[in-house]
Amino acid sequence: MTTSNAAVTGHTDPRLQKLPTAKIVRRQDYTEDLFKIWIEPSVPFSFRPGQYITIGSQNIERPYSIASAPYEAEIELFIEHVLPEHGGKLTPLLYAQHVGDIVSMRPRPKGIFTLDERYTDHVLVGTVTGVAPYVSYVRQFLHDGKSGHRFWVMEGASHWDEFIYDEEFIDLSKAHDFIKFVPTVSRPNAERNKDWQGPTGRVNTIVEEYVESWGLAKENTLLYLCGNPGMIEDVKERMGTKGWNYTEERFWKEDE
Ligand SMILES: Cc1cc2nc3c(=O)[nH]c(=O)nc-3n(C[C@H](O)[C@H](O)[C@H](O)COP(=O)(O)OP(=O)(O)OC[C@H]3O[C@@H](n4cnc5c(N)ncnc54)[C@H](O)[C@@H]3O)c2cc1C
Repeated sequence: MTTSNAAVTGHTDPRLQKLPTAKIVRRQDYTEDLFKIWIEPSVPFSFRPGQYITIGSQNIERPYSIASAPYEAEIELFIEHVLPEHGGKLTPLLYAQHVGDIVSMRPRPKGIFTLDERYTDHVLVGTVTGVAPYVSYVRQFLHDGKSGHRFWVMEGASHWDEFIYDEEFIDLSKAHDFIKFVPTVSRPNAERNKDWQGPTGRVNTIVEEYVESWGLAKENTLLYLCGNPGMIEDVKERMGTKGWNYTEERFWKEDE
């Protein structure tokens, strides 16, 4: 028998009321619109790195790429709060939630944006929250003690303080010569970036130059493109047309 989750999720839709739930067990805020929540499902939930979970509240559901790795006990989600005036529906609700609050969850993970081990060289390109699946890939790869693959994480954001996983990737790149991290800011002249000394420009505009400088071979390399659909379209235009293999995960539709 399925019990109603209505009292804790705010769902009035009877179909959503039948879904299992997950509890927010931890939350951390980073900038005014970027935060992470860690959730604990009420039912067994297993996934592959790069897959997403669909969570919901008050009759709204959205998919989120899972940043944690399968070996971890909690599911970590990295979320941008989209204000209601910019079309945000679920994220304003999530942003208002606290540890102990409950969301609904689809019981099965979805998605095929997973690590393709037929290639040995993985160029992981993401915009802000689009880095989430890459965190999962790298954590699980290291946890499994695997070798023989190389990872280049390229993350684009407007401002440097949006690189929420930068310390993790910098530490990993110091510890492992097969992991590299390239964060780039698209608004180098913004006051918020005044101390930034790293690469500048939208990430899509620097992928080609970096891939060439690393001397990667097309037959061994897969480009992963995740997040902003404009970034994905542009990299496909620049690189896909030249024969580079790619795979993509769009977080929204371009015309939205
Ligand atoms: C497979 C998949 C995985 C996703 N994983 C994540 C994730 O890990 N983290 C995450 O924050 N979002 C992720 N998203 C987007 C997420 O599902 C929601 O669309 C987003 O959280 C906004 O929800 P909303 O209901 O507030 O607004 P929506 O009605 O869903 O979207 C309103 C508008 O917000 C903008 N928008 C949507 N998502 C983002 C974003 N991530 N960053 C900036 N602007 C955005 C777009 O312009 C969109 O048209 C993913 C989407 C898909 C399809």
